[in-house]
Amino acid sequence: MCDTYSKNNDGIRFDSNERIVKNSDIDQQWADWLAPTRRSFLFGAGAAAVGLTLGDEALAEVPETTDHEATGPATAFLALNGPIKPYVSADKGTSEWGYETLKQPTAQPKGLWPGTESGLPTKPRAYTDIKSYHAHFYFDFDTYEKAALIRRWAGERFPVELGDWNLQPRGPHVTPSFYFGFTNDLLPVIVPWVQLNSLGLTILLHPNTDDPRADHLYYTLWVNRSQPVNAYGMKAPRDEQGRVMVEKILPNVTPSVKLELS
Ligand code: ZN
Repeated sequence: MCDTYSKNNDGIRFDSNERIVKNSDIDQQWADWLAPTRRSFLFGAGAAAVGLTLGDEALAEVPETTDHEATGPATAFLALNGPIKPYVSADKGTSEWGYETLKQPTAQPKGLWPGTESGLPTKPRAYTDIKSYHAHFYFDFDTYEKAALIRRWAGERFPVELGDWNLQPRGPHVTPSFYFGFTNDLLPVIVPWVQLNSLGLTILLHPNTDDPRADHLYYTLWVNRSQPVNAYGMKAPRDEQGRVMVEKILPNVTPSVKLELS
């Protein structure tokens, strides 16, 4: 059952499949010592005292021959820290939820996917319900310079409505962000442009329809990855006559750089 190793001229060890084995001899000694086959052999032989767990008994049974200075990573960790004990909260009092909450009946949330409140829709939504788009760029302390670069590049190239820097959560956006809004005709250019120029940032592209909650939660396109959006309670703003007001796009930057083409 034992693995065998050979060494090349540089002393680098290879296993029988010619893969480089990077462990040092000491590492390998420990890896062999702790390998499942070795463990079961040892346990089977009644020599269960290998220090495989960090509990008190294991500590007590570390073989006396073990050199605590540098005989392996686990031993070094144990020598530094002693046995690890779980931290158990000592909170006292009554749960705010009361007791036996497991016996509550299962609760069914309301259906929120637009158009499905009474079952599946009978026909697709018209794509012309989308009046414009927003692109939201999320950043943090580590990535704001990337955001600044993309913001400048976009503002120099596209006739967009460019918003302020938001260093705090704003609206449904839960991390620092900036955004620009754009008209539907720019979509076939802006989608590939942000795909190639995201610099790894998380980007939310959402349409603007008469349903801002759906725009942010259900009609989205994400570049790179998604992140939470606090839009569950969003409601469309209404004018004095009670009509839904859809987000307007009013471009506020003047392009000065021709788009790069291959
Ligand atoms: Zn938006």
